[in-house]
Amino acid sequence: MKHNFGAGPCILPQEVFKEAAAAVLDFNGLSILEVSHRSADFVKVMEEARENVKKALNVPEGYTVLFLQGGASLGFLIAAYNFAGKHKRAAYINTGTWATNAVKEGANAGLEAIEIASSKDKGFNYIPDFNEIPDDIDFLHYTSNNTIAGTQFKTIPKTDVPLICDMSSDIFSQPIDVSKFDLIYAGAQKNLGPAGATLYIVKDSALGKSTLHIPSYLDLAVHAKKDSMFNTPPVFSVFVSNLNLKYMLKNGGVEEIANKNQAKADLLYNEIDNNPNFEGTTEVKDRSLMNVTFRLTDESKKERFDKLWNDGNIIGLKGHRSVGGYRASMYNALELNSVQALVKIMKSL
Ligand SMILES: *Cc1c(COP(=O)(O)O)cnc(C)c1O
Repeated sequence: MKHNFGAGPCILPQEVFKEAAAAVLDFNGLSILEVSHRSADFVKVMEEARENVKKALNVPEGYTVLFLQGGASLGFLIAAYNFAGKHKRAAYINTGTWATNAVKEGANAGLEAIEIASSKDKGFNYIPDFNEIPDDIDFLHYTSNNTIAGTQFKTIPKTDVPLICDMSSDIFSQPIDVSKFDLIYAGAQKNLGPAGATLYIVKDSALGKSTLHIPSYLDLAVHAKKDSMFNTPPVFSVFVSNLNLKYMLKNGGVEEIANKNQAKADLLYNEIDNNPNFEGTTEVKDRSLMNVTFRLTDESKKERFDKLWNDGNIIGLKGHRSVGGYRASMYNALELNSVQALVKIMKSL
């Protein structure tokens, strides 16, 4: 098997792949790919998946979990539409490419989208301070993990206005205090399941309060009222996400995953910091545990290093074109032995 350090879609546990493959052939006498989303069997899967998200993240009472489509890219717009309030003004912390897109979609929803902090000046290689949060805004939006730049918030921004977070690339990687958020959303394909589903965790008291007229599909209240079955949901993606959630819960939950992720990150960052051939590309205090970005200190070694990791069965290590260098994405299902394989190759350069 290959060591998949790709940034997404992500690796999932082998056990989940096997169960998913079996269900393609036989899910109670039908293929999971042909089963009606209104059948009792699938409704049960959807309900279980929503419950398992609550279990895994310890979601308090008063929140609704939804599995929709459109990816986090539609989430940017859904967030803005649903949380538009009397100010028609929203604050964003801009920490990267995806955060920039969120700002853009906020404006597309008709809001005045203001960046109260940004790390664009240094190519998004750090998390900016966000002390000054105005109060004449409808919500504050941030991106907990910046998949491309390789930075991650270590604390939740403090604010009195509704807090919204795009957690696409670090949800389920560690415990989170959901009660601090009014909306969390995440594309499934980074840490939860296959592409196709987008997870929303929304505070019930916020539903139906928007000051904008919201097209039906973009209205979270519409989906909540229909138990995440307003239209045909991404059946296979929800099914596999649920398999992965069950796997997670059976294996110690997000607490155990967080320990594993810390061990993987420590191992790789330690090599980057101690091997003179490499250097990290982000500020040390803001380093992501999920997406590790680094580069060679001597570009003339590129060809040799690229051959070494390609021959070593490693894939997905090439950095995003906007950053260059290398990016090792280490989502939950990537095992420590894959990181050990990469570190061994780095040592041999
Ligand atoms: C991948 C990613 C996105 C985009 O997700 P899509 O599901 O492809 O729309 C948005 N935000 C973050 C943080 C991501 O990592």
